[in-house]
Amino acid sequence: MASSGRGRLADKNAVITGAAGGIGLETSILFAKEGANVLMTDIAQEALDKAAAKVKQLVPDAGRVETKLCDVSKEADVQAAVEHLDSWGGLDVIFNNAGIMHGRDDDAINTPEQIWDLTHNINVKGVWYGSKHAVLALRRHGKTKGSVVNTASVVALVGSATPQLAYTASKGAVLAMTRELAIVHAREGFRFNSLCPAPLNTPLLQDWLGDDQAKRHRREVHLPTGRFGEAVEQAHAVVFLASDESSFVNGTDFVVDGGMTKAYVTPE
Ligand code: NAD
Repeated sequence: MASSGRGRLADKNAVITGAAGGIGLETSILFAKEGANVLMTDIAQEALDKAAAKVKQLVPDAGRVETKLCDVSKEADVQAAVEHLDSWGGLDVIFNNAGIMHGRDDDAINTPEQIWDLTHNINVKGVWYGSKHAVLALRRHGKTKGSVVNTASVVALVGSATPQLAYTASKGAVLAMTRELAIVHAREGFRFNSLCPAPLNTPLLQDWLGDDQAKRHRREVHLPTGRFGEAVEQAHAVVFLASDESSFVNGTDFVVDGGMTKAYVTPE
């Protein structure tokens, strides 16, 4: 692994949304190690600065590592982030990763409409805006290949008895949207794939579970490995999907779940 000029993502220009923590930060680190130039975006500057400092500390010979505030539910923010790469030679990769799972998200009866709308504005529209401006940028720079990776979730594939209806519906939308984009843009060389993570050790889930052991066990029991995933295990998959190694991988629901969605009864 190495910085600009070498590595599996040598000289690729990438935008990562939700890059201040969790999967987005781990992916920023691996992208930098693999030679990509990375624009890390998120909604809080302080958290972004800390995250970028971590990337630079872990990858001292990284290429460009820059930050930009970007609320993915605002199209102008997403457009500005993508266009930030115009002076670098144009975007090659976007990882539309930002997403929320709101504490008041619930079942069909109890999910407040405003939580539904908030969740969909970030999780669905954010991915649409990122995909749209990636396509425009790839065309603007005359690129014949590009990779868009959109974060969905295993809850887009299997039903959950612990409801989070707005979140689940939003991730189903990400899968369907990504699949269609993959087909529409295939002849331009632009690939679109979804990442479907299982429950992870990231703030998104862990803050929500807190020290509630029963809530935790309710989920862990469904994982054949007996553990939640780590963000870096998702990041490795994103490197593959972003790189030319996956040149014939398009429109997939790329599942990184330790076998969770393939399990009936798990080991005791
Ligand atoms: P995380 O909470 O650690 O990171 C999400 C990041 O998105 C945060 O840095 C947050 O500030 C940012 N964000 C929130 N709202 C935003 C907005 N409007 N615009 C831009 N950025 C915003 O969570 P994570 O686990 O790394 O989640 C990343 C993605 O993975 C999300 O889309 C999430 O739904 C998905 N996912 C997570 C899990 C899990 O168990 N953690 C499982 C499946 C899918």
